[in-house]
Amino acid sequence: MRVRTFESFWLVKNGILYSYPSLQTDLKTEILVIGGGITGALISHALMDAGYEVMLIDKRDIAMGSSSATTSMLQYEIDTPLYGLSEMIGEESAASCYRAGIDAILDLKKLVEEHQIDCGFQMKSSLFFAHSKKAAGWLRDEFQIRDKHRLGVRWLEADEVQSRYGLISHGAIWSETAASVDAYKLAHELIQLNVKRGMKVYDQTGMTQLDTSGTEPRVILETGHTITAGKVVCCTGFESTKMLKEHVADLFYTYVTISEEGIQLSEHIQNTLLWNTADPYLYMRTTDDGRFLVGGEDSSFNLQFFQQSIKERKADKLARKMAKILPGIEFVEDFTWGGTFGTTKDGLPYIGKSPEYENTLFVLGFGGNGITFSAQGMKMIVAMLQGEKHPLESLYRFGR
Ligand SMILES: Cc1cc2nc3c(=O)[nH]c(=O)nc-3n(C[C@H](O)[C@H](O)[C@H](O)COP(=O)(O)OP(=O)(O)OC[C@H]3O[C@@H](n4cnc5c(N)ncnc54)[C@H](O)[C@@H]3O)c2cc1C
Repeated sequence: MRVRTFESFWLVKNGILYSYPSLQTDLKTEILVIGGGITGALISHALMDAGYEVMLIDKRDIAMGSSSATTSMLQYEIDTPLYGLSEMIGEESAASCYRAGIDAILDLKKLVEEHQIDCGFQMKSSLFFAHSKKAAGWLRDEFQIRDKHRLGVRWLEADEVQSRYGLISHGAIWSETAASVDAYKLAHELIQLNVKRGMKVYDQTGMTQLDTSGTEPRVILETGHTITAGKVVCCTGFESTKMLKEHVADLFYTYVTISEEGIQLSEHIQNTLLWNTADPYLYMRTTDDGRFLVGGEDSSFNLQFFQQSIKERKADKLARKMAKILPGIEFVEDFTWGGTFGTTKDGLPYIGKSPEYENTLFVLGFGGNGITFSAQGMKMIVAMLQGEKHPLESLYRFGR
């Protein structure tokens, strides 16, 4: 019988790093950030850097939403391949979204280094490998277009992939820029850093209503208290779908299993994010404390009641799939968990103003590279508040 928790590994490993008071009065602020996950942490940091008076609230403890469950692979690669995205929005625009992902990873590196944030950040490369002969066909086309736009890629034949990584595939795109991090810890540390710079933070402080009918937005809290703000920035993750009439994302559940520490892996595997062309895709990476995680097996099934037994089955399936393509690795499962995940119709985030709310901006970075989208939001939100046009604004807009 399993008597272990099915909470996310990051949560168990780190615990609740910092707690904040709940808000028990009415307040006013220049900018209110709603949501203290990785997005809220990054956006509030950028706003503090830009000199605004910032307040952040979260209805839970900090980073207890999807930022506690995420596997935090930092990829420039969008869930929609570049050739597919080019058909949807034009090749130059699509390539600029891919390039923005590379910049975002480098921005995150700079941020972590500048403030010496201990969050397991590691620069890596990534390997997007074909799971079938058929998929290898379109993956080669994908390589051609990425290469044309100088995204730092190389094509590896199946035998090269096998000799370098011990991985069975049908060929792969190797990309030089990727990274991994503990997003839960990064969110906590970044928020704490800004608290020390004067940012006000209230956890266990849930918004029940956002009233933007007046000159300034009014946020009504679960306690009945209100916050009046010059501007509101919603970093409310997948739960934002409840606030919006516009259908911005499809939600589903995804699973992760992680090994015990000290798993024997080659240096190439340790330094690479691995993901494949299957639908849903399988993804794997190492952690800074010497574990190997395997994720995927997405399902639309999200009944809490059944989660315990589903996670057991999903963990076995993920480990079996991994063993089939990476034979000889002794994976001993330590934790398995799941989390809600969202996909948009084009794989791009929604960043900016929704016509449904005045004086309010949203940063909704869904998908397999939600975190790199949130990092892109840092410069975008500051530019929008300062009335400057950002080149990605129209591509990530609501109502597209
Ligand atoms: C298992 C899994 C694996 C993933 N893997 C990756 C990956 O490898 N790479 C990657 O980039 N992304 C990945 N993602 C996606 C990534 O986790 C998300 O894009 C990211 O965590 C979103 O962060 P967020 O801060 O926007 O949302 P959240 O972390 O969900 O934060 C939103 C916050 O808003 C608060 N909130 C919501 N409503 C209210 C309200 N009314 N009042 C007050 N507060 C409110 C919530 O309590 C929450 O803390 C993965 C997701 C999952 C679940």
